[in-house]
Amino acid sequence: MARTSSASKQDQKQRIADLREKINDCYVSTITDIERYAKEIIELATAVKDRNAEGLAFLDLSFYHCSSTNEYKKSLDCAQRGIDLLSGAQRTYYLPYYHLNRGRCFQFMGDQIRAQEEYLDAISILEKRKNRTVEETRWMGSSYYNAYILFNQGGMEFSREDFLEKAYLLYQQIDDKPGLSNCYNSYASIHYKKKELPETLENLEQAYKLSSEMQAYTHMSIFSANIGLVHAQLGDVSKFREYFELCSKHTRKTKSRFHEAHMNGQMGEALFFLGMYDESLERLATAEEIFSELGAKSSLTEILRKRSEIYALQDNYRLAYEYHTRYAELIRERFNEEKATAIMRARMVYEIEEKENEAAILKEKNEEIQQYMNKLQASNNELQQFAYVVSHDLREPLRTISTYIKLLEKNMTGRLDREEQEFIDFVVNGTRNMNELISDLLTFSKISYITETEQVGLQQLVQSTANEIVLHYLPAKDPVIHIGKLPVIEANRTHMKQLFGNLISNAIKYNKHVQPEISIQCEDTGKMYTITVSDNGIGIAPEFRERVFQIFQRLHSKADYHGTGVGLAICKKIVDNMGGQITLRGNNRKGSDFIFTLPK
Ligand code: ADP
Repeated sequence: MARTSSASKQDQKQRIADLREKINDCYVSTITDIERYAKEIIELATAVKDRNAEGLAFLDLSFYHCSSTNEYKKSLDCAQRGIDLLSGAQRTYYLPYYHLNRGRCFQFMGDQIRAQEEYLDAISILEKRKNRTVEETRWMGSSYYNAYILFNQGGMEFSREDFLEKAYLLYQQIDDKPGLSNCYNSYASIHYKKKELPETLENLEQAYKLSSEMQAYTHMSIFSANIGLVHAQLGDVSKFREYFELCSKHTRKTKSRFHEAHMNGQMGEALFFLGMYDESLERLATAEEIFSELGAKSSLTEILRKRSEIYALQDNYRLAYEYHTRYAELIRERFNEEKATAIMRARMVYEIEEKENEAAILKEKNEEIQQYMNKLQASNNELQQFAYVVSHDLREPLRTISTYIKLLEKNMTGRLDREEQEFIDFVVNGTRNMNELISDLLTFSKISYITETEQVGLQQLVQSTANEIVLHYLPAKDPVIHIGKLPVIEANRTHMKQLFGNLISNAIKYNKHVQPEISIQCEDTGKMYTITVSDNGIGIAPEFRERVFQIFQRLHSKADYHGTGVGLAICKKIVDNMGGQITLRGNNRKGSDFIFTLPK
């Protein structure tokens, strides 16, 4: 007994799932079928006490009543029942859809303010969600799209074309044909308002094409009427008839009173363009009747305006005035001052929220970057530590070698032949070179991006560094160093000393003159200072001018010029870390100019 009941419960659940799928298909094409599937779900869900399934079906019904039967109050009731039945994650997930449905109802009912609030609610919830599902993307597209339509309606002073653009992009993401076709229709109206009829037609045809691919009669009905209207304006009577015939075919299929009214309204306007005022008024009267009956006030407003216009053209000023008064009243009712303020307020609230959202996203990004930087810093520290330990430990055995070789040399004094003495000299030189290499490597590894800085007066620092170096080279070489006016900058003192020291000492070292001439000049180049260290030395061939900045790259043998190949790499690292750049070029003294920039 128990088994049968649980099996049938299983069947019922399966049936609900099947029906849900069918409803999802209906959203694209035959909205009219939603009602029976939803009602069946409600019946089954009540039986198996599945409140969530029941709630969802009510939300479907809400959509159905708003879009198909145009029973807005009923639609609002269904939306409310639906959301009340849902709970937990389901409720949270469908909340924007509930707002979207309410927005639609209020919009048709002409309640601008509440419609706007509902759409903006939906948007602000959805904007916060990450990895949106296709369905969520569609809701968001629709919310933006409807909000665009809302802001764009007659009587409103501002248009939000950015909303339309957002909707279009969202629909494109999920290839939502009904959404995209609506956007094309709206782009068409933008052109229409600017009297750009060919562009209008182009967009409408695109919209119509998409909707016919899906056999979406509601859309086809609207778009074919709009196309017919444009043809009427272009004076193409046969095309005008063709499209309105198509339209009435589609409209019959929709079984929607709203679409019937829309068709009549557009036809009325088209006939007006063709100069057939009486027929036009007849159509407009039909549209007016249906829109009033449905309580579709926003569409009704337009019809009243058109009627008033035609009466005026017919010199029937009494009726023109009467309709204009009704039109104005309706507008006033929809946009009295209080409401206009409310619109502005809601808009501002939304914009503030949008800004807050952006700030939250930025904050998140910032935290991410911070984390990344911390990691980088940690790995940098590790690397430095490693280089330090390695260099330190390498020096230990080196010191042993050099000590013992010197001892050996001392003990064997007088007993070594020339060749043996030469071997010992090789070892001594080798260990000295290696010691220098390790020490330079250590210096290089210690230069880090994050370092303590202070105000450093370069004038004084460069002068004293140059003096020390000159002393080192005297008396073999007697360099002349011209130092121009140098600024005070925020930098690490040791780094500055290393930078200028390496360049000055290279300028003297790689120089065959007994009296090398070196000049150090600074130029203010906006955000940066550009400093040039220029010599009349041996120069560097163009093909090596980049390579010399790499670590261990030397252009000469140790026999010609002593060195480790680390100096310029250190210079580059210091300048790079400060956000500057270092380059090299030849000069007219056959020497080299080292040019680098430092921030102020
Ligand atoms: P080191 O001087 O220890 O070899 P550097 O990194 O300072 O290492 O220089 C790399 C190479 O660039 C040098 O070996 C040298 O060939 C070349 N060089 C550097 N400065 C000059 C200069 N002022 N004039 C000519 N050649 C230079």
